[in-house]
Amino acid sequence: MIRVRFAPSPTGFLHIGGLRTALYNELFARKNGGIFVLRIEDTDRTRLVPGGIENIIRTMAWSGVQADEGPYLDDGGAVQERGDYGPYIQSNRFDIYADHAKKLLANGGAYRCFCSAERLESMKTAMMAERRPIMYDKKCRGMSAAELEQKMQAGEPHVIRLKMPESGNTEFNDAIRGRVSFENALIDDQVLLKSDGFPTYHLANVVDDHLMAISHVIRGEDWLPSTPKHLVLYGLFGWTPPIFAHLPLLLNPDRSKLSKRQGDVAVEEYAEQGYLPEAIVNFVALLGWNPSADREVYAKRELVDAFSLEKINRAGAV
Ligand code: GLU
Repeated sequence: MIRVRFAPSPTGFLHIGGLRTALYNELFARKNGGIFVLRIEDTDRTRLVPGGIENIIRTMAWSGVQADEGPYLDDGGAVQERGDYGPYIQSNRFDIYADHAKKLLANGGAYRCFCSAERLESMKTAMMAERRPIMYDKKCRGMSAAELEQKMQAGEPHVIRLKMPESGNTEFNDAIRGRVSFENALIDDQVLLKSDGFPTYHLANVVDDHLMAISHVIRGEDWLPSTPKHLVLYGLFGWTPPIFAHLPLLLNPDRSKLSKRQGDVAVEEYAEQGYLPEAIVNFVALLGWNPSADREVYAKRELVDAFSLEKINRAGAV
């Protein structure tokens, strides 16, 4: 069964690149008789904007890019959910992430780190001064059982970190980019669970993609460097990873990452200017993908018929 998802963070508005990601997921699902899931990734409480979830749902509905499962708005404008794999809003799943972090502690895939914010900050400053890549120095990775016990007894605040393998490579076949390889030694021992018990994106994303039976992860290329951490997590949990497909970025005319300073990035801004949803969908569909060189106008159903991951470009779309 093909199951894909769009997993935005509700930071205030739907980015035009987010709409393209959602659309490609929907086209892929429709083309293959699969299911398209909307999941809200609101674990970073510092970036939350009130009404952000409603706004994403409303803007997707305006565009006609519609999920089969996940949150939706009822007639009164309240957020409801449909589907058998919920809850679909991560802040309603915190217990699940904490349980999974404990499993990793038990199987040796993760460790408790008691380093203070001050220590991490001065470590970072020193690494920057020496022009070294900024990575946690693994001080707590080798902590003795006795020291760990004593810190736990004292109730010292701590995070849970992923124990990345220190040698070898993590490799996978990306459906768009082909074979990709990362050197494990260069990848940080990612924080999985913060000291307040909140998960980070990495843990929540992997746990949910697995529990929601996601078969293909189609997302922006900015997540490519995170994928080796995710693959290591799949391995530690004993799960089969999904197929990954990383989409080229949308770029400003000067080839920097598309930003507000150089144009409109919020889908709502295009709606307010009077663009029709069909036109916006047609336009974003062809940013980085084109089934034929001499045609520019497609109805949604024609996009579905023509869609394939293999035809997505690797280069960013200006
Ligand atoms: N919440 C992430 C975002 O905002 C999702 C990335 C992913 O699809 O894994 O882009």
